[in-house]
Amino acid sequence: MKKYLIKTYGCQMNVHESEKLAGILENMGYQPCDKNEDADIILFNTCAIRESAEQKIFAHIGELKKIKAANRNLIIAICGCMSQQDGYAQNIVKKFPFVDIILGTHNISELQSFIEKRQNTKKKVVDIKETEDISNRDLMPKKRTSGINAWVNIMYGCNNFCTYCIVPYVRGREVSRPIIAIKQEVEELVEQGYKQITLLGQNVNSYGNDFADSDVTFANLLKELDQIDGDFRLTFMTSHPKDISNEVIDIIANSKHIMHYLHLPVQSGSDKILKAMNRRYTAKNYLSKIDYAKKKIPDMEFSSDIIVGFPGETEEDFEGTIQLVQKVGYEQLFMFIYSKRRGTVAEKMDNQVDLATKKERLKRLIELQNQIGTKIAEKYIGKTEKVLVSDVHPKKKGFVIGTTFTNKNVNFPGDKTLIGKVVDVKITASKLTVLFGEMEG
Ligand code: SF4
Repeated sequence: MKKYLIKTYGCQMNVHESEKLAGILENMGYQPCDKNEDADIILFNTCAIRESAEQKIFAHIGELKKIKAANRNLIIAICGCMSQQDGYAQNIVKKFPFVDIILGTHNISELQSFIEKRQNTKKKVVDIKETEDISNRDLMPKKRTSGINAWVNIMYGCNNFCTYCIVPYVRGREVSRPIIAIKQEVEELVEQGYKQITLLGQNVNSYGNDFADSDVTFANLLKELDQIDGDFRLTFMTSHPKDISNEVIDIIANSKHIMHYLHLPVQSGSDKILKAMNRRYTAKNYLSKIDYAKKKIPDMEFSSDIIVGFPGETEEDFEGTIQLVQKVGYEQLFMFIYSKRRGTVAEKMDNQVDLATKKERLKRLIELQNQIGTKIAEKYIGKTEKVLVSDVHPKKKGFVIGTTFTNKNVNFPGDKTLIGKVVDVKITASKLTVLFGEMEG
């Protein structure tokens, strides 16, 4: 039996694309394995969001030189955002002559034909396309690997060109899938027993903008999906604050299935920095959207991404971020130090912040967020929550892990028979953002 190993880097979009690549390989008769030495094909699904990710990937590819020398039949393939970047495919060919196949972000559905071409011609296959017919991706088989959760792409690409981000250059412009195709996929997943469906897009709130029909909107998509019968939760990522509408919040407030959790990346609390980032909202606009959501859905939890030390960020700008974080009260924050990304507008900005200042600001933000996250978790103590059990605890024997309808993580005593069930859990304690409890009834 031939074996495959996929190494996935980066975001949920890549995790799901690796599920599709695994689907193709399994249809071709390959079985998964864990070790480089056992594999007949090793596929790197790469990320380009930070240069540190890129260096890590290069190091991992370099490690395969010896293995390839010992096994000439091994196929090494590279796809994803890194290979799609301008000039990178040529660089990879030069740096790693033992790599057999390079494809980009737009032609992963062609993996099988590339493998066959390599096997038949023994020649390197390098093919990076700029566009694609997205229905090809709908037709790709999927080997789902995220337990009770299933990812569903609703759109690809991004039109926003935030000045720090490489995604629009490597993923192309926004292309939405038709509502009918998404609904059919979600219905099938619910029927197959998946308990959480996560809709994926770089900017889900601009879903449908590329359709002439003005009824194809993210709000209408959510409304349609919420009507599907069955026992499941629905959530989505990632939202852009400039595009999320009050209508979307109203639909969540009146829905059966849509979780009371919103990841709304703010990036900075300073209008000057938001402008330099080309985010096209102000801190005030952002806060008004959060306030609306809090009014309509009082138990809604929020999370966000913040970039610390973007070029030109002064102490006063950073103070704006601190104040915004205090006002919102995020359940969780994903905080990053700004680092230059080759090919972006911000890379050329001449007012870069020094590393020591960036680190010091990040430390202050982490301390603040730890206090806020701890307080938010504490307010759950004494309450009974509906917890969807996702798995057994990876380290604590006799415990399971799950999430509340507001996406808080909960640990409590239980066994694998509970996986996929929603149970009442009385919350008895918390540690940082994690809740602990006992099952009721
Ligand atoms: S919205 Fe901005 S940060 Fe998000 S993918 Fe698009 S360009 Fe990148």
